[in-house]
Amino acid sequence: MVTRFVEALYDDWMQAFEGVRLLHAETTPFQKLEVFETARFGTMMALDGVVQTTTADEFVYHEMIVHPAMVAHGAAKSVLIVGGGDGGCLRELLKHPVERIVMAEIDAAVVEASKRFLPSLSAAFDDPRVAVEIGDGLAYVRDTAERFDVIIVDSTDPEGPGEALFTEAFYADCARILNPRGVVVTQSGVPFRQPRGLTLSYRRLASAFSDVTFSVCAVPTYVGGLMALGWASNDASLRRLGVESIRTIVQSRGLATRYYTPEVHLAAFALPGYIQELLV
Ligand code: SAM
Repeated sequence: MVTRFVEALYDDWMQAFEGVRLLHAETTPFQKLEVFETARFGTMMALDGVVQTTTADEFVYHEMIVHPAMVAHGAAKSVLIVGGGDGGCLRELLKHPVERIVMAEIDAAVVEASKRFLPSLSAAFDDPRVAVEIGDGLAYVRDTAERFDVIIVDSTDPEGPGEALFTEAFYADCARILNPRGVVVTQSGVPFRQPRGLTLSYRRLASAFSDVTFSVCAVPTYVGGLMALGWASNDASLRRLGVESIRTIVQSRGLATRYYTPEVHLAAFALPGYIQELLV
């Protein structure tokens, strides 16, 4: 019986979860998928040995990758999630008056494992506004005839299947399938651990969008300090909403959240110096 899960980020830096119980393990055509019951973080999913989501702290990440864009846009009806197979982004998006959400997820096994072991994230899959397209997100954005108001890239890190989702070609296609006033938000790693990756994401996003920056949030199991989320749009006015305008939209939608607030919405874009200096 497995009692310890070690996320070996580097040879000299890792995080360990003691007293875990392995609930599920499989090697999918794309990655190793594991689900654990943990003593401190509830149920945890890992892909290729990297923590993806835990029921204890997933609210931070899923609220912050969804609500700033949806509130700033204010009228998004059609949203694309690339990746996001655990369903957490879906759950948060359905708190807004959306008409259609497409999820382009490469690995059906992640969706199935989430439905079996992560019901607090995956209940949203049953919503009639949701369409799940199993396939590579890179191909989806290249080939789709649909247009979207918001695109959320809830991918793994740029190794393995996720690598394609950090390329200029991918971002160019995202820009092409966005409606006017549209915005893309991307999982952009932990800058203290992956500084080079943040700079590359910044440059590649800037090749396709005129307003590029990052927001940050603190996700306990994404070790190494602040987690960065890329923000890319061709409409800089989306980031000029004041806190009271944000509050009006939040209250009108009855947004129930545990991390995101109107104040946090604005504060999340106030980047520390060590992150700002990576945006070159
Ligand atoms: N919150 C996590 C994080 O910050 O790392 C991400 C969670 S979510 C489980 C990541 C998803 O991206 C996985 O389900 C994985 O299968 C999916 N994914 C990876 N590469 C992909 C690709 N090229 N196209 C579509 N989905 C992809």
